Amino acid sequence: MFYFGADRIHNGYQWLEPGTVISTDEHGTIVAVLAPGMVPADADVRHFEGILCPGFVNVHCHLELSHMKGAIPEGTRLVPFLQSVMTGRGLSSAEEKAAAIQQAIAESRQNGIVAVGDIANATDTLLHRQDSGLHIHTFIESIGFTETSAADRFAWPLKVYEQFAAQQSTRTLLRQSIVPHAPYSVSAALFRLINAHAPGGLLSVHNEETAAENELYRHKEGEMFDLYRTLNIDAGFFQPSGQTSLQTYLPQLPDRHPVILVHNTFMEEEDLVFLKTSGKTVYLCLCPNANWYIERRMPPAQLFLDSGVPVCLGTDSLASNHELSIWAEIQTLQQHFPALPLETLLRWGTANGAQALQMDTVAGSFAPGKRPGIVHIDSRDRIAMVQ
Ligand SMILES: [Zn+2]
Repeated sequence: MFYFGADRIHNGYQWLEPGTVISTDEHGTIVAVLAPGMVPADADVRHFEGILCPGFVNVHCHLELSHMKGAIPEGTRLVPFLQSVMTGRGLSSAEEKAAAIQQAIAESRQNGIVAVGDIANATDTLLHRQDSGLHIHTFIESIGFTETSAADRFAWPLKVYEQFAAQQSTRTLLRQSIVPHAPYSVSAALFRLINAHAPGGLLSVHNEETAAENELYRHKEGEMFDLYRTLNIDAGFFQPSGQTSLQTYLPQLPDRHPVILVHNTFMEEEDLVFLKTSGKTVYLCLCPNANWYIERRMPPAQLFLDSGVPVCLGTDSLASNHELSIWAEIQTLQQHFPALPLETLLRWGTANGAQALQMDTVAGSFAPGKRPGIVHIDSRDRIAMVQ
């Protein structure tokens, strides 16, 4: 049996009473959370200065873009960023991509991350997933804005999905689902195919990451048309709803699909009111460092906290972030929103993320029977996995 104490222990939800001790077995499974006074007299407690918390959960990443680290300048806004990703992602060799993915997995683990929601457009990460030591839900993206081509566009993600679904691991959770890339890149027909593929499956979608998205849905104008030109898409058929993007497409998703809305940088208060009355299971995943990298803008985190809709955190890819670290995302939110308590931010980075990825039976909190990993954050903000 191993015993761990610290100046402050966060159990994934809240701070624990000072003097609390976590005990684990040799595999890292939590045996007990011992209140002060309940610790056996002969327990050899290892005490840490600083904070102990469960392993972090990175709800939104694109490991397959790791080779694009530093390749795209900051502050371009989303549409030019996406155009750069499209032209740049194929420029590296398979070996370079594989090395970058391996490095990104190692970096994630060093930064205390134990579970990842990982976007895939192809099978580049397939060979690295099984031995990553991470719990991974692979979100295979489907993209296709033109109604008539939906069946053709769905064939590719289906093929990718089948290869991921055939993979098994006894060490960590490996799951996958087919998801829409973003509302502005998925037609109503493609949404229907996604819904029908795995009823009740976990969905993730890039949501309101740029102001251009709501300009498209409200007024059928703006920068999104530059993207369509690049993709050779004639968007003339598109009918604006006059509402925000979220209010337009979310009703197309059946209630039984839980949805992770990623970014939400330009989400407005009326969207939150809409979400709360929608009856859907929704998580808001914030990637503040990537939003700053691409748009020089922060998501309205305080608004989200006040809304009561659950929030979790992601890093996005190394194409739009300097590192894959949930702790770094928390630090950025602290700088921009000093009123947000660290207790809440740690919950977003651990327990809420595990719930969003449906991995809370193993990760995200200190509770007997779980194996969440134990992260130590010292007074100089250095991260180490204790177990
Ligand atoms: Zn993304």
